[in-house]
Amino acid sequence: MSNSIGTPLAGRVAIITGGGSGIGRGIAIRMARAGASVVVAGRRMDILDKVCDEIKALGGQALAVPTDVSQKADVDKLIQTTIDQYGKIDILVNCAGIANVKTFVEISDEKRDDVWNTNLKGTWDCSKAAVPYMIKQKYGRIINISSVTGPMVANKGWTAYAASKGAISGFTRALALDLAQYGITVNAICPGWIKRDPTAKGAVISDRSAKLNASIPLGRVGQPEEVGDLAVFLASDGAAYITGTETVIDGGNIIQEQKGDF
Ligand code: NAP
Repeated sequence: MSNSIGTPLAGRVAIITGGGSGIGRGIAIRMARAGASVVVAGRRMDILDKVCDEIKALGGQALAVPTDVSQKADVDKLIQTTIDQYGKIDILVNCAGIANVKTFVEISDEKRDDVWNTNLKGTWDCSKAAVPYMIKQKYGRIINISSVTGPMVANKGWTAYAASKGAISGFTRALALDLAQYGITVNAICPGWIKRDPTAKGAVISDRSAKLNASIPLGRVGQPEEVGDLAVFLASDGAAYITGTETVIDGGNIIQEQKGDF
């Protein structure tokens, strides 16, 4: 039965890009536990298959679709495969993301394009391809995984990333207005420091240090599953009246006037 307390996403079909590791994996597992059939998308099939195995071991349903979200043909295939398998798309979580930590002076146009094409264009293209199905259903939930970096704060060396995540904020708000008439909500989650997956590629701020943990008001970095719980709520009927928002999940970090250096 849909929307019972234990399984608020029962009967729903959710696509999670970047679902093979880190925050995306945490969201996929929490959404599957909440009753959704989950489609995880990313470039590495081995990690996607592992997440599917975990979900199936929990008694859930999962499908892995190899996808590079910066490639429109891959995005179209992801959406078509989901429709072929499940017949609908209720929830889209745009989580695939990369950072390339280099100062503005150092970063090349190619590296900038990699970041923007994955983080921003990927989010746009996945939404663009999924929305026609959501409109047909008169139901949809789009959740964009942004960051505190860009929309709210900045870090040295993160210009390309901050620009992409700041743009996701504007996109989230504008898209929420365009899609409200169809019963589709669009919200963003802005994580602060969340535990990285050992399989993570790219700019890894290796394991989060004791000094970093101590600088966060709640005394620790967040867990990917905690972001997953927030995403489950935003995808549930309990969040039906929430659209165009950004929710920070950062242990109270960015509200501090002064932070430690790490
Ligand atoms: P992660 O483990 O590296 O997750 C990123 C995922 O995106 C990977 O599974 C990766 O898989 C996938 N991905 C990257 N490029 C892709 C592409 N072109 N097409 C499809 N999938 C792609 O790192 P994470 O920290 O959990 O990050 C997840 C999201 O949260 C990102 O959007 C990130 O900006 C955001 N975020 C993270 C933190 C944090 O502290 N961890 C804080 C704020 C925001 P493949 O390489 O196999 O494709």
